[in-house]
Amino acid sequence: MAQRRLQGKVVIATHNHGKLVEMRDLLAPFGLEAVSAAELSLPEPEETGVTFAENAAIKALAATKATGLPAFADDSGICIEALGGEPGIYSARWAGPEKDFDRAMRHIEELLQAKGAMLPEQRKAWFVSALTVAWPDGHLAEVEGRVDGTLVWPPRGPAGFGYDPMFLPEGDTRTFGEMSREEKHGLPPLGRGLSHRARAFVALVDQVLT
Ligand code: IMP
Repeated sequence: MAQRRLQGKVVIATHNHGKLVEMRDLLAPFGLEAVSAAELSLPEPEETGVTFAENAAIKALAATKATGLPAFADDSGICIEALGGEPGIYSARWAGPEKDFDRAMRHIEELLQAKGAMLPEQRKAWFVSALTVAWPDGHLAEVEGRVDGTLVWPPRGPAGFGYDPMFLPEGDTRTFGEMSREEKHGLPPLGRGLSHRARAFVALVDQVLT
């Protein structure tokens, strides 16, 4: 199918404030006017997919159908090697309805300790971000980004959201929770394009933004 450019007004199909802030930062240099699904009071579709990409497509298609605007959605999460890739697409759900990530991180630590996973090489994890743009006619652009690292305990740093304070990206000495927004997801040439979302975004820029 022919490539499409994303321009003008777009919906960011998320109700997660942390992700909205990151996506707005990423989209800003491309002169797109971004409104969020939460600002438009769009209902949150049920995420019935079994992969990150399927869930991103469900969210993007629901938002483009509801608004008639191109919609940009992300589905993401953390996969932990010692837990067979869990929580994966259930990363948000592990924090419960009250979105208590301190509890979710403690739960992960308990599972790792129960497996005797104390050394960094036993505590490997990776974040995944699937990004999808959907247009009102059903056309989709889909990409995925990943960042590898290890899980530290106790969590470190006040920045970011979700599992950031526990995640030490490979080759760094600071967790995502100890990094500024710019350091975590800033794009080259200013940033390193470090985060999973930044990496997926770089791929998406090639497809629909330049
Ligand atoms: P969803 O993509 O809305 O299904 O939720 C993904 C969940 O994964 C978030 O609620 C966070 O718990 C976690 N997550 C995704 N990306 C990040 C990140 O960059 N830092 C920390 N946690 C993340």
